[in-house]
Amino acid sequence: MKNHTTFKIGGNAKTVIIPKTEKELVEVIKCLKNEKFIIVGNGSNILAPDDGIDGYVIKTTKINSVVADGNIITAGCGATLAKIASVALENSLSGFEFASGIPGTIGGGAVMNAGAYDGELSRVIKKTTYCDRDGNIYKIEGSQHEFGYRHSFFSDKDFTILSCEIELEKGQKENILCKMKELNKKRSEKQPLNFPSAGSAFKRPEGYFAAKLIDDCGLRGVSVGGAQISEKHCGFIINKCNAPAEDVKGLLSLCQQRVFEKFGVSIEPEIKIL
Ligand SMILES: Cc1cc2nc3c(=O)[nH]c(=O)nc-3n(C[C@H](O)[C@H](O)[C@H](O)COP(=O)(O)OP(=O)(O)OC[C@H]3O[C@@H](n4cnc5c(N)ncnc54)[C@H](O)[C@@H]3O)c2cc1C
Repeated sequence: MKNHTTFKIGGNAKTVIIPKTEKELVEVIKCLKNEKFIIVGNGSNILAPDDGIDGYVIKTTKINSVVADGNIITAGCGATLAKIASVALENSLSGFEFASGIPGTIGGGAVMNAGAYDGELSRVIKKTTYCDRDGNIYKIEGSQHEFGYRHSFFSDKDFTILSCEIELEKGQKENILCKMKELNKKRSEKQPLNFPSAGSAFKRPEGYFAAKLIDDCGLRGVSVGGAQISEKHCGFIINKCNAPAEDVKGLLSLCQQRVFEKFGVSIEPEIKIL
């Protein structure tokens, strides 16, 4: 899993299966009906265990077609948000700029309702096609997505997103490009992008910022083994030096404990711990 997560952490899965088409993905899911498996997109929000995964991993990144038709973009579940943003730009479609620097796929992004800089996928995803473990295919739209903060209809369910329809607005190419550049500059100034991580380690607790609470506990730069609370952005835990998952978990617990002791606030990991 080291090779399939942005944290660069994790032992072996039974097998990593990388279907090339939506049809193959559904076939694989049907074949694995009675087996343990997990779906992985770009692995940018996942902490995988050091002793591996007792089950199959289905990785979606080859199912990555992105087609624009008018102001609707249809994207395969493994299309990266960056690729969708670039197709939006080519077609002078605005509304997806916020997501261009989030290093995930639309499938993983829809599950998480990924967001940044006042944008959220909930505002642009209009329809989603998904399948269950028997390979039955369904479509939902609008409020059926039950989007909330880092939450959707798909959170904690055993469904696989196959594709999403994204609705954007006509815009000016120069303005779209300018906004994307501005947001990505902000991102690289604020975030430790030169180290492996899974983005923000914690969800934003209501009324607070997790990074500020962690900083105010004096935890900036604190390490457990090879994992460190980023000196650049306290909301990020980075894999500084071949950290095993246990080191990251140690830091997650340390942050939770100290923040609770000092401020009485519970912070919940945003990273999915497998
Ligand atoms: C440097 C960095 C910066 C980041 N910045 C942001 C940010 O600004 N905003 C933000 O919201 N997130 C951010 N993230 C976190 C992450 O990129 C997002 O959560 C992203 O949407 C996850 O997509 P993914 O394809 O990598 O999902 P994965 O990590 O592969 O999976 C995440 C979850 O979704 C499930 N999943 C994946 N694909 C499917 C599918 N097709 N069907 C069903 N379930 C699926 C997985 O099983 C898992 O539970 C950042 C991460 C990094 C490393």
